[in-house]
Amino acid sequence: MARTAGTAPQPFQQLVTVEEARERILARIAPLPPRRRPLLEALGLVLAEPIRASEPVPPFTNSAMDGYAVRAADTAGASPAHPVILRVVGDAPAGSASMRPRAANPATQELPPHTAVRIMTGAQLPPGADAVVRFEDTDEVEASPLPAPREFVRIRRPVQPGENVRPAGEDIAAGSLVLEPGTLLQPAHLGLLAALGRSWVLVHPRPRVAILATGDEIVPPDQPLLPGQIRNTNSIVLAGLVLQSGGIPHLIGIASDHDADLERRVTYARGADLILTSGGVSQGDYDRVKEFLRQRGRFEIWQVRIKPGKPMAFGAIDETPVIALPGNPVASVVAFLQFVRPAIARLLGRTDLAPPRVRAILTQTVDNRGQRRHFVRARLDTRAGTSVVTPVPNQGSGVLTGLAHANCLAIIPEDWAEAPAGSEVEVELLDLTAFPPTVPFLTVTGRAGYQPT
Ligand code: AMP
Ligand code: MG
Repeated sequence: MARTAGTAPQPFQQLVTVEEARERILARIAPLPPRRRPLLEALGLVLAEPIRASEPVPPFTNSAMDGYAVRAADTAGASPAHPVILRVVGDAPAGSASMRPRAANPATQELPPHTAVRIMTGAQLPPGADAVVRFEDTDEVEASPLPAPREFVRIRRPVQPGENVRPAGEDIAAGSLVLEPGTLLQPAHLGLLAALGRSWVLVHPRPRVAILATGDEIVPPDQPLLPGQIRNTNSIVLAGLVLQSGGIPHLIGIASDHDADLERRVTYARGADLILTSGGVSQGDYDRVKEFLRQRGRFEIWQVRIKPGKPMAFGAIDETPVIALPGNPVASVVAFLQFVRPAIARLLGRTDLAPPRVRAILTQTVDNRGQRRHFVRARLDTRAGTSVVTPVPNQGSGVLTGLAHANCLAIIPEDWAEAPAGSEVEVELLDLTAFPPTVPFLTVTGRAGYQPT
């Protein structure tokens, strides 16, 4: 018998709503202290510093087209019938500090009047030029194959000053505030940082989440089963959910229903930002987790109005928050989505903690006696332009196949004893893959490109 004298479980003090349980957990969790990360590792993380532009982007005025850099005034009145003819005095390929004068012409940096420079997209506009005529509006398109560099170009259309030109600072003005702290970094944000010469950035890092299974009957999946044993499925499911939520899972094994083993196992959670346990929080004789937490310090246990789900506990071990999830595989996932995912989001510095929800019409009647919020494993479809939601056949809280066949959870409010077919309900989507995977991480290494760290 594992129970120690004098620590008999107390009756559950409270019956709390899903919101109340979530609020109590979130009240104890703050964003992780910012750390510097290589750019690509910051994808999906929350920026923790203001980003100001030390220089303009683009850094110099350049051509938006392949064509001829000109003084716009020189092209006035040009038409296919009466083209303007300009002397070509140089070439401006992208990547050069200045244009390359043609041999026949004196080296000059300022574009002389009534001349043109053959310019490529992205090349710096020569001083004096204020517009670019696209190849399509010159005689380039008439010659096929193209002759050797010609001395003159015929311009068939006038251009306005600034036409086909990207001014310095068009994207980002020097000194401007480009990104505010709190920005959820998407690929385009990483591009802005790269444009400003940043390869590292200050973000709230991914939380390390230790995952501990508990139960005398639980064995690792790669071991043969002895009578009475079942395989540990919770750890791998929870680890997948942690990854999809933006955390880094640390699987710290399986503890038996004995305090000494729990104590030994939680030492493996050292360095974690959050500890998850599964099992051992209901009212069975060997449910040690809540007693263990009680002895180790801060601890609350609630009977949450949630179905599936039994009591859950929340506390801390050596200042690290612990969320003790139910043992039943489906209940642990439902509790994860309602309580752990928002906790990870808060650690990540995110403020959008609510899961994405849609509304849909129930195709079948769902029973909900017991005044709990019922998260029904279901499939969301569209029929004749309407979102409809159909419960999957097996709703047992230990039946993982029901969850595996579902793509959403239909939510029946606690004050509905029954949700009739045809009623409209809220639906939480189970597809969480929007968050990028953690591996392999890549980092910027000069012109060689990106290499695994
Ligand atoms: P408990 O709350 O510890 O009584 O667990 C409730 C149910 O969930 C029992 O049937 C356990 O065998 C099962 N269970 C607990 N932990 C796991 C786990 N890690 N993997 C699969 N099933 C589990
Ligand atoms: Mg157990």
